[in-house]
Amino acid sequence: MTAKATDKLPPTDTGRCGEYAGYRRHRHRGQHPCTPCAQAAADYDRARRAHTRKPRPPKPQPVEEDPKPTPDEIRATEIEFLLGCGEGEHAIAKALGVKPGSLRRQLHRDGRHDLNTRVFAYAAEHRQQGNR
Ligand SMILES: [Zn+2]
Repeated sequence: MTAKATDKLPPTDTGRCGEYAGYRRHRHRGQHPCTPCAQAAADYDRARRAHTRKPRPPKPQPVEEDPKPTPDEIRATEIEFLLGCGEGEHAIAKALGVKPGSLRRQLHRDGRHDLNTRVFAYAAEHRQQGNR
């Protein structure tokens, strides 16, 4: 069981108060350090850390050029391409491995309302013309 801070005795004069040695003497006696010794110990620790601290390796810089497209951007690009090829909703959905309803929901969720309208309006237009 470790001694709690509250179990420690009040500081008495160490003869070296205000030095790291004084702090060590307080500790050795099971005392709270006095204020000058606590300050000396803090200064000592700080100096020691600064001395022993290894220089940090430089952080890898994030590459600014060409951020990777998000899945919805990739999907949008594919859809644009397929629309350009004259494909309709069923072919596009099939190419993306989803059902047309799922594709419609994905586009809605991604906020690609323009694309949603174009994919499904295209199909509606073809249905009207009797191509489907
Ligand atoms: Zn002291």
